[in-house]
Amino acid sequence: MTETENIAYDVVVLGAGPVGENVADRTRAAGLSTAVVESELVGGECSYWACMPSKALLRPVIARADARRLPGLRQAVQGPLDAAAIFARRDWYTGDWTDDGQVDWLKSIGADFHRGHGRLTGPRTVTVGDRVLTARHAVVVATGTRAVLPDLPGLAEVKPWTSREATSAHAVPGRLVVVGGGVVATEMATVFQALGAQVTVLVRGKGLLDRMEPFAGELVAEALTEAGADIRTGTSATSVTRSDGTVVVVTDTGERIEADEILFAVGRAPRTDDIGLETVDLAPGSWFTVDDSLRVTGTDWLYAVGDVNHRALLTHQGKYQARIAGAAIAARAAGSPLTQTDPWSAHAATADHESVPQVVFTDPEAAAVGLSLAEAERAGYRVRAVDVDMASVSGAGLYAEGYTGRARMIVDLEQEILRGVTFVGPGVGELIHSATVAVVGQVPIARLWHAVPSYPTISEVWLRLLEAFRDN
Ligand SMILES: Cc1cc2nc3c(=O)[nH]c(=O)nc-3n(C[C@H](O)[C@H](O)[C@H](O)COP(=O)(O)OP(=O)(O)OC[C@H]3O[C@@H](n4cnc5c(N)ncnc54)[C@H](O)[C@@H]3O)c2cc1C
Repeated sequence: MTETENIAYDVVVLGAGPVGENVADRTRAAGLSTAVVESELVGGECSYWACMPSKALLRPVIARADARRLPGLRQAVQGPLDAAAIFARRDWYTGDWTDDGQVDWLKSIGADFHRGHGRLTGPRTVTVGDRVLTARHAVVVATGTRAVLPDLPGLAEVKPWTSREATSAHAVPGRLVVVGGGVVATEMATVFQALGAQVTVLVRGKGLLDRMEPFAGELVAEALTEAGADIRTGTSATSVTRSDGTVVVVTDTGERIEADEILFAVGRAPRTDDIGLETVDLAPGSWFTVDDSLRVTGTDWLYAVGDVNHRALLTHQGKYQARIAGAAIAARAAGSPLTQTDPWSAHAATADHESVPQVVFTDPEAAAVGLSLAEAERAGYRVRAVDVDMASVSGAGLYAEGYTGRARMIVDLEQEILRGVTFVGPGVGELIHSATVAVVGQVPIARLWHAVPSYPTISEVWLRLLEAFRDN
């Protein structure tokens, strides 16, 4: 019989994705002893099957598209992409799906690492194999999400791709069906169409990227179609089978599509079904509800940070929460008061509510922060949407011949600040932080007139937006 080992820490972190790592970094920096438990790879979904590999695959696709928009350069990049070289660079970014470097980093900050599946086995207690870890101050759940598959009979035998198989693929299927119209679906459709697959996208709703301003999905769909993808809106897969290697998809519109692989990118579910939530009176499989210090409602010791709390399923936002949760845990451990309402406080994740930035790395890129027009109106703000054709900006024309893009800012007419900004066009991903500063900083719109963008950059779109607001 194996003997149980009991180890006490100040903090136990369950899940070592980017968020768990950042919580541990903060609690260690505050001098709290910290254990980190990870069942797969330190670095989480983001490092191995999400942000890093997807962006490593997309970067050459976008660079080639940009180069093809420049006379004098266009003819130099007419050939096909070298898929093997692109996969090899992606493999390097994922460390070939090994986590030695990140385990070393955890050790370097003085955290204790426990590899294995952790479960809560009561208040302040996490069990990993034969080790029982107890937490004097906090248990932090940062177990992230997994891809959801629809409930279609026989789907498991088809061996469909989820984001994991798509981001770690080592071959390009001849024909790929992508089910879904969100960020993962559009990014992966962009990658595989550019690498030579014939991509068909099945979107249940009216268009792509339906959480952003409508023109974002429209411009991305136009470009994907021009690249050769077949986008079918208002269409769902009702049956998926595989025979002799070929995937056969039947849709609710009566179509029959054959493919070599099928990718489902239809949503995420929290990895909370097997972490012992029932032992602390919480429902297994549910998203956590937390306050702005990331502490789970109704507890004084349990925190849920990153994707698992469903506030914003993005690495940068989860890491922001991690910095705040770490600071809040340290303050509470020291008996110091937290202020939830002070905007300067390091203990409240206020930027999770209405000022979340996101970049979709498609061609064109779509970047947004804060609220869309529809969201602002739903929230009850009196707003005006100001639109500008990005082609009117000299820097955009210089960036790409025939530059196509659009910008929108949502002006709060009562407070005269911005509630949201969206840019769609080549190269706009790097522009979004200017908008994030304006939205989060609640910069008065008249003051923005004095934030002079450099000539001739695409950032001069700010002048066009402000002129359009002033003159109408
Ligand atoms: C294809 C794709 C592309 C994306 N691209 C971007 C992007 O470009 N930018 C961006 O900001 N976001 C992106 N995201 C979202 C981003 O990946 C997530 O927001 C981020 O990974 C969340 O981090 P996390 O630490 O909360 O969870 P995760 O990264 O999911 O990490 C959770 C960790 O917990 C571990 N774990 C789970 N259960 C247990 C257990 N019981 N015991 C021990 N360990 C456990 C898991 O093994 C995992 O390592 C993308 C997502 C996908 C799917």
